[in-house]
Amino acid sequence: MTNKSVGAQKIKIPYGKQSISADDISAVVNVLESNFLTQGPVTPEFEDQVAKYCQSDYAIATCNATAALHIACRSLDIKEKDIVWTSPNSFVASANCAIYCGATIDFVDIDPNDYNISIRALKNKLEFAKSRKQLPKAIIVVHFAGFSCDMESIYQLSQIYGFHIIEDASHAIGAEYQDSKVGSCQYSDMTIFSFHPVKIITSAEGGMVLTNQRSLYQKLLLLRNSGITKDPALMTKEPDGNWYYQQIELGYNYRLTDLHAALGLSQLKQLDHFIDLRRNIAEYYFKKLSHTEIQLPDIKVQAKSSWHLFVIRLNNLDIRNHVYNDLQLQGVGVQVHYIPIYQQPYYQQFNFNHTDYPNCEKYYQTCLSLPIYPELKQAQQDFVIDIITQSLAS
Ligand SMILES: *Cc1c(COP(=O)(O)O)cnc(C)c1O
Repeated sequence: MTNKSVGAQKIKIPYGKQSISADDISAVVNVLESNFLTQGPVTPEFEDQVAKYCQSDYAIATCNATAALHIACRSLDIKEKDIVWTSPNSFVASANCAIYCGATIDFVDIDPNDYNISIRALKNKLEFAKSRKQLPKAIIVVHFAGFSCDMESIYQLSQIYGFHIIEDASHAIGAEYQDSKVGSCQYSDMTIFSFHPVKIITSAEGGMVLTNQRSLYQKLLLLRNSGITKDPALMTKEPDGNWYYQQIELGYNYRLTDLHAALGLSQLKQLDHFIDLRRNIAEYYFKKLSHTEIQLPDIKVQAKSSWHLFVIRLNNLDIRNHVYNDLQLQGVGVQVHYIPIYQQPYYQQFNFNHTDYPNCEKYYQTCLSLPIYPELKQAQQDFVIDIITQSLAS
């Protein structure tokens, strides 16, 4: 296939984009004019407000979601000889975090309807792994495109097979599952959010870990801050003085700055509004494309999604590539989410067998993410829809 993509500068309509208001800008400027650029009062306020929104007990802001996933794994003491499973239909960070800890990563095939981890495939893989005494220590589930995984079923399996659950909710802040916000951690140990600009709300770079477990919270605090504590209760001896601190873990500098937190905190006020706008966009695509050969997300089933992505499925690889090229040529920055992680060159050393993931393979050949972001106008959607319709007819 020839690469007919145009350069980023020629993209008129990207697949995702941030919305920055005058309030967002003044929130950041206020921090610049204050005494603290980092480790001031704004990051704890951002954490408190996200925890309150999601009704979790604790929240720890990090410099990005990749760092959040890393310390989430570390806080569960994931290390060499441990096994971690995740979805292959995700950004590479969902799997890399386990490898950072020296663990073995493995993948569970996806559901052909919602593209999240398949509960049936998970059950079968767990039963097989149990017979071989190779059960995972943790499973990182990904709420793909903003639609929550079936957390209750995953939780029930965790009770039978004894694994921890991390929710990679990088796409899903503001989404709901049953009657709770994603992030309530009702059925998991921890939930991770990303605040990268293409996500639902942004702090430029930024991430967060939510949990209801105090012991995990304390570990996460240490891991975010070079393993250093000033709490005498955690020290190995009496403090030498009021200046004293101890490093009791191998941690990192994964802190979020107050500049970034100010942007995130300001954006949080718009979260529900952003999701309403995204839902309207999804409904309009659905209305305009539902009588075509294109397979669409079920907007009734996915009503509580945060609509990070709007993924359509074309009939086959050639048609998908044809539609992709036509859209790109006209400046529409559609994308493929995702290349299965096990197909990445770095992952070749682990010898994954592509035939173990038939749904993911088929999905990868036929998926396409259409533009969806709060400022996308209906006329722009019409422009995108027209190109797709013409492309399918040609
Ligand atoms: C964006 C994303 C990440 C990583 O987020 P960063 O904040 O960019 O580190 C991890 N997992 C998924 C599913 C993502 O979409």
